[in-house]
Amino acid sequence: MNIINPATEEVIATLEIDNQESVSDKLNLLRAGQKKWAALPVEDRLSCIVRFGDLVQENIKRLAEIMTAETGKPLQQSINEIRGAQNRVEHLKLNAEKWLASEIMHEGDTSEKIVYEPLGVIGNISAWNFPYNVGYNVFLYALVSGNAVLYKPSEFASMTGLEIRDLLWKSGVPQDVFECVIGEGNVGGMLLEADLDGYFFTGSYKTGKYIAEKVASKLVPVQLELGGKDPLYVMDDVADVEQAAINAAEGAFYNNGQSCCAIERIYVHEDIYDGFLKAFVQEVKGYKLGDPMLEDTFIGSLTRLPQRDILLDQIKDATSKGAELLAGGNAPERKGYFMEPTVLANVNHNMKVMMEESFGPVIGIQKVSNDEEALELMQDTEYGLTAAVFSSDQQRAEKVLSNLNTGTVYWNCCDRVSPNVPWSGRKNSGLGSTLSFMGIRAFVQPKAYHLRK
Ligand code: NAD
Repeated sequence: MNIINPATEEVIATLEIDNQESVSDKLNLLRAGQKKWAALPVEDRLSCIVRFGDLVQENIKRLAEIMTAETGKPLQQSINEIRGAQNRVEHLKLNAEKWLASEIMHEGDTSEKIVYEPLGVIGNISAWNFPYNVGYNVFLYALVSGNAVLYKPSEFASMTGLEIRDLLWKSGVPQDVFECVIGEGNVGGMLLEADLDGYFFTGSYKTGKYIAEKVASKLVPVQLELGGKDPLYVMDDVADVEQAAINAAEGAFYNNGQSCCAIERIYVHEDIYDGFLKAFVQEVKGYKLGDPMLEDTFIGSLTRLPQRDILLDQIKDATSKGAELLAGGNAPERKGYFMEPTVLANVNHNMKVMMEESFGPVIGIQKVSNDEEALELMQDTEYGLTAAVFSSDQQRAEKVLSNLNTGTVYWNCCDRVSPNVPWSGRKNSGLGSTLSFMGIRAFVQPKAYHLRK
């Protein structure tokens, strides 16, 4: 499989892809290794993960350059991601032993306790946009809990996947406990045919739904972290309209808008609409687009070429229905899969840009007259990942947030993930939770003991 640098369109590596036989060999190896791994005390497994975290941080520059080369993510944002992902390791360090320990629920003639046992060998099919963040959410938590992991990095982040594997091995995770399979969707399909004890997927709704249906008859846990169409509502009482616009723009355009929890649509109260729009457009026009390897680049290339056509189609659809193009709108004429950061105003819900996941540097901004209208529009979506409100009034903001059917809500912040609280999507945004104590328990199954003296 040729790995193409999306910013230069050059082939930077050629990797051997897996096939049915190699997948089956790897699975057999993991099946044997998992039993020995699960028999170790949690603290021994945890110490490997802590060592891994340290090794990743020691190698941060090299790893960031690899991620940037294969995804087009600006180098500084690659560094930020790798540095930030370390909070998952810290979370496990503090919490894994507590949440994996057996619990005595009742003592008496017949005592009762719960023991948390690993699922076994799990399949982790993953996305390319934040390979460390979304990867760690699954494979680190699964490993600490005593599972073996067959990890399929995205075909757009495979070099990163192999680096992660090598560093896990170097940290003491045995080679028969963590292994990668390399390839495109068809190789992911081989995992669905295999006899795995759980499927943990990060990616699009379309693939996630397909996977859930395909493995349903196996009756093993299936967890899905999928896409979003995350709204932001800016109320008329924000303390600083300009700052709100700057923060909103970052939430929409960070990582080129290729974040599952990126702000994908913005509603602004009519009383501050003009000022917000002006500051927002000025901020976006100041973003530097260019070589992602350069320190001051904020907008790198898209990771996948076909996404550019989806974005151009959304822009065309919106402008043909009356939207106003205030910034960007085109693919710049240069090598690489670049797309100008684009701002559309005067948009509505008859336009694709307000209804379908853009997953790129394109945003629609719509004027609203009150909280009720904003809430109704925010709820008008098939997705349910995150939603945000900017306001100086927490009570007013929480009134809106409590009525939203999403797994995460934000007041005066956005595009944020923390290991202290669960990460979960509702509706077409997913099934199940990673992170927090729920994300630790996601990789174990309870065994109830009834013990009569
Ligand atoms: P994708 O669905 O195209 O691919 C994801 C993975 O699935 C890849 O490894 C791919 O090879 C594999 N795959 C594709 N077809 C398959 C098949 N038929 N059988 C088995 N595996 C198959 O998604 P993507 O482009 O990598 O990721 C972008 C999407 O992921 C966006 O929608 C984004 O919002 C979402 N995402 C969600 C979260 C979250 O936490 N909720 C995090 C990151 C990304």
